[in-house]
Amino acid sequence: MRQPLVAGNWKMHGSRESVGTLLGALLASDIADTVEVAVCPTYVHLAQALELCAGSAIGVGAQDCSHAEAGAYTGEVAATMLADLGCDWVILGHSERRAYHNESDSLISAKLAAAIEAGLKPVLCVGETREQREAGEAEAVVAAQLAGALDGHSKLDGLVIAYEPVWAIGTGLTATPEQAQDIHAFIRAELAGVTGVNADATRLLYGGSVKPGNAGELFAQADIDGALVGGAALVAEDFQAICNAAA
Ligand code: PEP
Repeated sequence: MRQPLVAGNWKMHGSRESVGTLLGALLASDIADTVEVAVCPTYVHLAQALELCAGSAIGVGAQDCSHAEAGAYTGEVAATMLADLGCDWVILGHSERRAYHNESDSLISAKLAAAIEAGLKPVLCVGETREQREAGEAEAVVAAQLAGALDGHSKLDGLVIAYEPVWAIGTGLTATPEQAQDIHAFIRAELAGVTGVNADATRLLYGGSVKPGNAGELFAQADIDGALVGGAALVAEDFQAICNAAA
């Protein structure tokens, strides 16, 4: 009932040439049509990615958006601008934004409102640090991040949550399928109490060093509906294999 979704977060990587090569390879590759696929390049590569993916099954998204609609916000990009360009998706609350740009749950909540209002489909990232996990605080941290971002919204249809334990991002460490499933089940139970969310229909992605070799066992878990993929999304055959593992 929940269509699998695999989204690639390209972070701050790429050039016009490499974007063309990577998308050329992905567009020519065989990816099962039962899986929804999206790529999220840098802002400056969005127009190129949208042009290359036009008419294909690959959706395109940004890695962030502003909370504001317009105005004196140097360096920011409004959700309405992304929608106007043709973007489908926007990643919000990524741990790198939280850590390096001090993004708070209330700012992420405002960004979520802007994204929804603009008609973008948000992928909201949550996840605990290694210290928080070792202190037994993983569930409390994720619950607070969910409440902080989601409370007060009424239109949350189509929302996607990515559980990304910070200790697993770009480290080569992956949560075990059981660890990931436990938190995904917890997130789904938390979502059941949030106004405007249909918890059973909400897709929950796992993120954190997903590779072709571990994707299958993660996707076999009952509450894992796909992945947000960083490093492996930059290698066409790896991303294709991860997408197909979700089919
Ligand atoms: C990410 O940054 O969203 C991510 C999951 O990265 P990686 O797959 O490289 O751990």
